[in-house]
Amino acid sequence: MRYTHPWETVHAQTDPRWLYSLALLAFLATCLVMCDLWYLVTELGKVLAEQARTDSLTGALNRRAMEEIVIRETLRSLRHGNPLCTIVLDVDHFKLLNDTRGHAAGDCALQALVQQAKITLRGNDLIARTGGEEFTILLPDTAATAGTLAAERLRIAIEQLEVSFEDESFRFTVSAGVAQLDPLAGSWENMMRRADAAMYEAKENGRNAVRSADDSRDTRLVKAALHTV
Ligand code: GH3
Ligand code: MG
Ligand code: MG
Repeated sequence: MRYTHPWETVHAQTDPRWLYSLALLAFLATCLVMCDLWYLVTELGKVLAEQARTDSLTGALNRRAMEEIVIRETLRSLRHGNPLCTIVLDVDHFKLLNDTRGHAAGDCALQALVQQAKITLRGNDLIARTGGEEFTILLPDTAATAGTLAAERLRIAIEQLEVSFEDESFRFTVSAGVAQLDPLAGSWENMMRRADAAMYEAKENGRNAVRSADDSRDTRLVKAALHTV
């Protein structure tokens, strides 16, 4: 081993290796900052996209997100021949609840409803807040009878729910209408209209009830199934 290049004393600023090292460091720092910025922008984009699809009070999907999903699921259902079902759900006498317990208590009830729906329904079912105290639930790969059964289970779970608010607790009920996508009509608007009409029928029949648009047999079958369990 021999020295091929003896040590020389030079000014650091004039040493090209010093300049190259500086340039490399600056390049690496820029890359790091760019990666950080890219990550932040991507994450922010995801958060904003999520917020644009979500109802801020309940965490459920909003109307716009639900419409996008229902169009996609309708096409999927028609293509594969799988059933698709929807539940339209409305809180009973919600104005009265607001008037007697206050708007904040009403908000609490809406949040509790969504939490309960998430617990009661399947993982791939979707819930959206489509009005003040109105919700739309989409049940992929589900026919009217199973959809009516799911709605009835949810109605019972909500009826039994105790909502705690300011050292007090209260209960509330919902009315629901169920409809299955009609492949002949082929339109999700038609399914929603029929579910909506069934929900109003449930209201007219005394509230705290579920009605199926497709067949009153569904409602009877579900009642029988639940009472024999
Ligand atoms: P029905 O049983 O026929 O559905 O009667 P309802 O009182 O539930 O229906 P109505 O349409 O008369 O009243 C709905 C109420 O929901 C009126 C409105 O002030 C209230 N509401 C709408 N959005 C919100 C909200 O975000 N929070 C609260 N607390 N109340 C809301
Ligand atoms: Mg209502
Ligand atoms: Mg309503």
